[in-house]
Amino acid sequence: MAVFSSIRRKPMKNLNDSVSTLNGVGPKKQEALFDLDIHTIFDLLTYFPFRYEDFVPKEIQEIVDQQTVTLKGEIAAEPTISFYGRRKSRLTVRLLIDHDVIPVTFFNQAWLKKQLQIGQKVLVHGKFNAVSKSMTGIKLMKSNSKNNFSAIYSVNNKITQKALQQIIQQAFTEYYDVIDDFVPKWIIDKFRLESFKKVIHDLHFPKNHDDVKAALRTAKFNEFFLFQMQLQTIKTNHQKNEDARIMADKLTLMPFIEKLPYHLTGAQDCVVNEILADLHRPYVMNRLLQGDVGSGKTVVAAITILSTILSGKQAVMLAPTEILAEQHANGLAKLFAGTDVNIALLTGATPASARKQMLPRIKNGEINLIIGTHALFQDKVKYNDLGLAVIDEQHRFGVNQRRKMREKGKATNVLSMTATPIPRTLSITAYGEMDVSVIDELPGGRKPIKTTWIKNSQIKTMLNFLQKHLKNNEQAYVIVPLIEESEVMDMRNVTETFEKFQQYFGNKYKVGLLHGKLNENEKNTVMQDFKDNKTQILVSTTVVEVGVDVSNASVMVIFDADHFGLAQLHQLRGRVGRGSQQSYCVLIADPKTEIGIKRMNVMSSSTDGFFISQKDLELRGPGDLLGKQQSGLPSFQVGDPIADLNILSAAQDVAKQVTDNENWKDLDENQELLKNLTTLNENTSFD
Ligand code: ADP
Ligand code: MG
Repeated sequence: MAVFSSIRRKPMKNLNDSVSTLNGVGPKKQEALFDLDIHTIFDLLTYFPFRYEDFVPKEIQEIVDQQTVTLKGEIAAEPTISFYGRRKSRLTVRLLIDHDVIPVTFFNQAWLKKQLQIGQKVLVHGKFNAVSKSMTGIKLMKSNSKNNFSAIYSVNNKITQKALQQIIQQAFTEYYDVIDDFVPKWIIDKFRLESFKKVIHDLHFPKNHDDVKAALRTAKFNEFFLFQMQLQTIKTNHQKNEDARIMADKLTLMPFIEKLPYHLTGAQDCVVNEILADLHRPYVMNRLLQGDVGSGKTVVAAITILSTILSGKQAVMLAPTEILAEQHANGLAKLFAGTDVNIALLTGATPASARKQMLPRIKNGEINLIIGTHALFQDKVKYNDLGLAVIDEQHRFGVNQRRKMREKGKATNVLSMTATPIPRTLSITAYGEMDVSVIDELPGGRKPIKTTWIKNSQIKTMLNFLQKHLKNNEQAYVIVPLIEESEVMDMRNVTETFEKFQQYFGNKYKVGLLHGKLNENEKNTVMQDFKDNKTQILVSTTVVEVGVDVSNASVMVIFDADHFGLAQLHQLRGRVGRGSQQSYCVLIADPKTEIGIKRMNVMSSSTDGFFISQKDLELRGPGDLLGKQQSGLPSFQVGDPIADLNILSAAQDVAKQVTDNENWKDLDENQELLKNLTTLNENTSFD
């Protein structure tokens, strides 16, 4: 090899060359291309058209009425012109196509007549009327023109369609030899992908729609694959860190697991194994535990916490609200009775004196499980050796808050939990750098919640229904939405509903009122009264949404349900169905939009959180689902992460396979891929 290195060669062409290397791309065109975010030849060649102009002639039999198509035929008679109105004209050309004569009428294009002769073969593009067998012409072309099917790009006012087409054509010709496949051969074979050369050719210069369709499939895969390789590379780049190891294994934990008041579901057991295996590895864990409401994430967290504590480290459990933190503290105290776990509850409501006593015991490690809210990552709180942070309802916390929590330890493993089922699309893209564990099974004996959708005019039915269940010693939630017009209106909305329920049921049952204007103490009291069955009906805004667990509540009534998104409706509904009795959800809505109706139908027909969340994504687009800090759904050029979920997920699988091999960067088959990854890395940042 060294022998050849002294030979001077012409610099190799490279897809990373600047577009300015092309003849004919001067400073002006270059600027125009930059505005389209086209910098390199690679950018240019992958600047795919957004649509195609289709002038491929069709057979008359295959055309449907009012379709815009192209016909090919021979001019059968002298074209006729008639004028009408002021300067308006109608030119009629009779075309012989097989044995039919089709009149094609062009409006206000009288000048065409001069170009036409009897017997001439032409293509006409226009709207076909199948009933009268005639066409309204838009465009007329000589039939020997080659470009029957052409790419249309989005351009700006600095460059024309034609100029861009020419530049792309030129780049393709000049760089044809260096367009290489970056997807390893075995993957191309496995998915029967097209070569990258062919993809580029067929997307810019296709003969017909079939070419485009086939090429798009590969282009989408390529795009998703590169993206997934990015994510996987980031994941595997994590530094080895012996401090992150949690050694307690399942055997050590078995006595605890066996003493639980129930058997773990299969899904819980699987997830526990995944987590423990991850903790044994000398890398910091960053795992998202996803499970529908009521799927039993808390006990999985408990097992994870115990393994950390048995390994001599501390754990925290972070919750978004005080109610929830308290609920966890009580629940976990029961579960951990008789173990070495020393629990403290630390929230904004913890009195200063208690806090003062607590902090040194957290610092010296005597307290090894701290449950709380945002207080947990404040500067004053110092930990001895924080090995694990469980973050419940993780989407309620910002990126920075989660980072602060993580930085409280030398090597803090993070288990994020969410009851908002994240659609596959998002868990593969926006959350792609995390590992994901899914609990996809509800504990046995639980009956799926029955959901009905009624109109406002049927409220009486709902009241009777409620009456029946209250009589049966069950409890009910009544949710009133926040309507954005004004805060005053909102309050009136929820208080009015509260008063109406009190009037209606007040003699026999107690009604509670919960809304965002109450302070933490008041909220806690209202919640506690409901938990203790001192109130039987809880009228509330959505503040009740997060994680609250009252197993005696069996009816969820939601007013103006069409004001909520699907994900939120699913969350709200998940507040019931936690006990052994049959639970119900009554949606009251007179939706005015198509989407509103669809939402009600989805909710009435499914209790599967993953299905619902994917529908949610389809109905309203990904924008709203993620918080602002996380609106990280990347934009793809050809792939649509929602519609092309199957391709996306296949791309993820193989990207994982590639990076599973520790030496993947040294393999010949991956060299071309690595080149493309480095280019991408420069332009993209993930954090
Ligand atoms: P979520 O995933 O919504 O946080 P929780 O952890 O609050 O759900 O669990 C909901 C309820 O199910 C709790 O009362 C819990 O005790 C119970 N539970 C959890 N796992 C099981 C199981 N394997 N079998 C029976 N009940 C379970
Ligand atoms: Mg929970």
